[in-house]
Amino acid sequence: MISASRPDSQSDGIYLDYQASTPVDPAVLEAMLPWWQLSGAGNPHSHEHSFGWRAAKAVDNARAQIAMLLGADDQDVIFTSGATESNNLAILGTMRAVQSQRRTLLVTATEHASILGPAATLAEEGFRCVTLSVDADGRLVREAFLNHLTDDVLLVSVGAANNEIGTLQDLPWIAERCHEFGAIFHTDAAQALTAAPVSIDSWGVDLASFSSHKAYGPQGIGALYIAPGAARQLRAVSFGGGQQFGLRPGTLPTALCAGFGMACHLLQTRRLFEPQRTSQLRDRLVESLLDAIPGAALNGPREGRHPSNANLRIPGVDATDLIQRLQPTIALSSGSACHSGSDRPSHVLLAIGLGDRAARESVRLGIGRFTTDADITAAVEAIVSVVMISREALQPRKAFTR
Ligand code: PMP
Repeated sequence: MISASRPDSQSDGIYLDYQASTPVDPAVLEAMLPWWQLSGAGNPHSHEHSFGWRAAKAVDNARAQIAMLLGADDQDVIFTSGATESNNLAILGTMRAVQSQRRTLLVTATEHASILGPAATLAEEGFRCVTLSVDADGRLVREAFLNHLTDDVLLVSVGAANNEIGTLQDLPWIAERCHEFGAIFHTDAAQALTAAPVSIDSWGVDLASFSSHKAYGPQGIGALYIAPGAARQLRAVSFGGGQQFGLRPGTLPTALCAGFGMACHLLQTRRLFEPQRTSQLRDRLVESLLDAIPGAALNGPREGRHPSNANLRIPGVDATDLIQRLQPTIALSSGSACHSGSDRPSHVLLAIGLGDRAARESVRLGIGRFTTDADITAAVEAIVSVVMISREALQPRKAFTR
């Protein structure tokens, strides 16, 4: 089923924060509902009655839908609560593997906090954790990577699509280098399902983390792809009833699994046209803002970028202030939602070479399945008008000639 209708009206404002979370597709909601009703009651791990069997079948079906989108085998996909948990399991569970003598972890400087956090924990435990630099577009600096890739490297983690500046990394190239050195390759693919058709095989990854709520599924569910070779190495980081091979124990939420499965099925049916449609709208948004706002610049790459991501620096305008002034009309963000509320500028923007001030003058705009042409027109108008008012209030206009 292909759903095109919007989840509800956008009378509450225009939603341009798709990298923080995507709206649940109406077809996803429909797929979840039965599992919250009496007929859908039952623990999918209850083997003794028909309610449990039905729930287990729904979970298996969802796993198959996810695996189909990835081009993976069903048994190589486990459910988690989201990409944060998948990342923690992949990083901690691999590095703490008892059978390995290797002690080094490589991650890029622009990784999500759920990669950098476990890396910091491992460093405290005595592992060697190296942060790899990226270039001005956020791409892994190959020479630096190759310099650090030694026989002591157990795991390399490089995000597939950056959540702030949309950079897409060259996963097949990185995977090949990792495998030449016998290292395991993990990618945080939380944002990647909506970027382009996914193929686990051509990516060449051993471990990949996914998040349902970045792909029109519900919040609170995600997945970890584990290639058979990597599974031998992986240790659980939480313990309980032994579900999912003991790697991620705990009762699976049938409704959320069914919703994530349906979200993947929808992506599969839309994979050839949705990224193209999104990128056209995104390009119009970016070009219109760059044209109308003197001095504005795009952060991150022009090519090889997530189709729904834009990140703009607007000199002279504090991002937090701009966003506040745009409430409740437009939802946009000053960086990752996981850091909102924090005073620190985005570590991603600093890593690509922006100064503290430039990072604080940058906003992320994320569009997606339910964004319309009219939304783009209205958003441009509102943003430009607030920027002009802010600049006039703050300093003389002539300071911003291009
Ligand atoms: N990695 C990336 C790149 C993300 O964008 C996010 C969500 N901001 C996460 C991990 C965490 O995902 P989740 O919310 O599913 O835990």
